[in-house]
Amino acid sequence: MESVIEICVGDHRYDAIVGSGLLDSIGSTIAKALPGKRCAIVADENVAKVFAERVNESLRRENFEPSIIIVPPGEKSKTLERAGAICEQMLAVGLDRQSLIVALGGGVVGDLAGFVAAIFHRGIPYVQIPTTLLAMVDSSIGGKTGVNTSAGKNLIGAVHHPALVIVEVDVLKTLPGREFNQGFAEIIKHAIIADAEMFQQLTQSARFKLDGLKPSSLPAQFVPLIKRNIEIKSSIVAKDERDETGERALLNFGHTVGHAIERAGDYREFLHGEAVSLGIVAACEVSIKKAGLPGEQRDAIVDLLQKFQLPTSLPQKFPREEILEAIPFDKKFQGGKIRFVVTPKIGSAHLSGDVTLEDIREAVAAL
Ligand code: NAD
Repeated sequence: MESVIEICVGDHRYDAIVGSGLLDSIGSTIAKALPGKRCAIVADENVAKVFAERVNESLRRENFEPSIIIVPPGEKSKTLERAGAICEQMLAVGLDRQSLIVALGGGVVGDLAGFVAAIFHRGIPYVQIPTTLLAMVDSSIGGKTGVNTSAGKNLIGAVHHPALVIVEVDVLKTLPGREFNQGFAEIIKHAIIADAEMFQQLTQSARFKLDGLKPSSLPAQFVPLIKRNIEIKSSIVAKDERDETGERALLNFGHTVGHAIERAGDYREFLHGEAVSLGIVAACEVSIKKAGLPGEQRDAIVDLLQKFQLPTSLPQKFPREEILEAIPFDKKFQGGKIRFVVTPKIGSAHLSGDVTLEDIREAVAAL
């Protein structure tokens, strides 16, 4: 089972291939799309242990000359220092402007390796091989790459589109349960902002549980779901590649408060998707007040998040004030004005210029 989504953003055109059994033929798939032969496979320690050798072998069979570059797992690897160190390693093994990068991993590796691809020799091609559900449906698509600073997440970066995205759903089998569930926060976000039908399907179906799933049933369940989510994200990005018209900002639904919660929890308490889940609940609260979202739709959203074991309320002793303090660091504040995404009903969203810090304070207090 395999699906190809053609993604067109501005002058860029690339394919996202979603399927199962793709990993061992990755070398020939990449060879068809890209001419270079020297490449770096960037992976974190966890992913490298299970998949790097297979990718390496497949590339070697097609006469690529890969070097594996391993980084520690987790958000703390998304730094300018780490990006610089990877560039140095690439130069040391002889990679040049004809080389390419294979980003094998979750969103951390995708953002970091994509950023390295954007700056190495002023930009070389890269291939995204996302290995978390979150990276498959979200971070590997759209071309946003970057690293964090002490002032906030993703504050240094570049828009650099991948030359190819290869989504091998079988890799989800080794993904820890909590990491798996957090991917659903972005899927549910996509449903809320753009696809009421997918929202209904997710609500009605018990199919997407990974626990106890027979490996053979994995592709049938996940290929169409991931394909649909890639289509939603890429069509929004295509309308507003550089965040200029407000269209792409819709993808930030739940993220203003979500990012602030991640920061207030020092990036340890919640995973990105878990913080986004909480941010979605807060955004629903604001939407009831400022966009007329019916209370029963907010309840349906909360139920769906809970179905995937995502948090919908904060622990009692979580420092709520720090969430508000973290909010101005987020890029969604331009010239002191809040650009806040609200949903008037499931399946649609818009930017509101009418949301105050007080509205957000109330929504956070209710979490
Ligand atoms: P991650 O990359 O840290 O991966 C999560 C954990 O799962 C890591 O420990 C990793 O080693 C492990 N892992 C990954 N794949 C595995 C597999 N198949 N089997 C076993 N273990 C595996 O986290 P993430 O949630 O994928 O990504 C979060 C990052 O994505 C954040 O930095 C966020 O800012 C970024 N992001 C970027 C965009 C974008 O548009 N660029 C969008 C959303 C999120």
